Amino acid sequence: MKNKVVVIGSYNTDLTIRTKKIPRPGETIIGGFFSEGGGGKGANQAVAAVRAGANVSFIARVGNDVLGKEGIERLTQERIGTRYIFYDNEVPTGVAFIVVDERGENSIVVASGANARLSTADIETAHDEISSASVLLVQLESPIDAIRAAIKKSHAKNATVILNPAPAQQLELNLLQEIDIITPNKVEAEMITGIKVTDEDSLRLIVKKFFDYGIKNVLITLGAKGIFTGLPNTMELIPAFKVCSVDSTGAGDVFSGSLAAFLSEGMSIEKAVKMANASAAISVTRMGAQNSAPNRMEIENFLIAYKPSEAEVLNRVIVNL
Ligand code: ADP
Repeated sequence: MKNKVVVIGSYNTDLTIRTKKIPRPGETIIGGFFSEGGGGKGANQAVAAVRAGANVSFIARVGNDVLGKEGIERLTQERIGTRYIFYDNEVPTGVAFIVVDERGENSIVVASGANARLSTADIETAHDEISSASVLLVQLESPIDAIRAAIKKSHAKNATVILNPAPAQQLELNLLQEIDIITPNKVEAEMITGIKVTDEDSLRLIVKKFFDYGIKNVLITLGAKGIFTGLPNTMELIPAFKVCSVDSTGAGDVFSGSLAAFLSEGMSIEKAVKMANASAAISVTRMGAQNSAPNRMEIENFLIAYKPSEAEVLNRVIVNL
């Protein structure tokens, strides 16, 4: 179905406390503001995709507990299809304990909980849903067997398969060959290919390595520097939009989620990258991860209102990597 994105991935409840400093081992400190919110790369990307305008279904596993029920409620309110979010009776919903200090440094512990039990049987149960997608979007916070099974199904249906390879891990070649678009950040690109990003030439080498793995389109996100795109006929650096950054947590999730949404409409990859670049730029001007994803109207208005500097217009931005 056109416009249909299936996201398979993690759901976590993020429990965040702001403190003056991060406690040392054995130390107890009194923190400040506490917040509870939805998180997990899969859920973050599903929210970004639905807000960008896609019809989104999210396949995941949560515990049969209060946090799991709240999570499904939260995603339903976003109008995300939650029929294939499975309840697990054995283990709790995934949680992330996040401590953020005054300087914005953080320290995070994740208990994957039910996310670690998403199975190939779950993927089989969701067969019809996965087969109806024009874009499949996956990350690496769920068991690789389940991800592999889903990729196989979408590939067989000629859907566009996007892998956001986070957190980075080595992947087998026959899996990579079925991926249409990979969206690593700088660290993930370095870890997967073993090539350090030092300059534009090193980015070209990384792209070539991904091409050798059999991936056709490579989009390396470079934070405030933008995106290095390796498409079948071109390699280029697309600069980031200049914005006042407040919190870049989850920028990569917003990029991949909104990219999936734009591609599901049949947009060219070049245009979808431009729109997703805008979407991610807006998200860094706001606090939070999942909640910072903009909606379609905000993305379009941003692109209309954006006034590039003279250097950007002349395409003479010098980017030091
Ligand atoms: P991740 O969150 O996975 O580490 P990045 O930090 O590379 O990902 O950010 C993803 C994308 O978000 C970038 O390619 C860019 O489009 C956008 N972005 C991130 N930081 C900024 C920033 N300071 N200003 C504008 N855009 C940004």
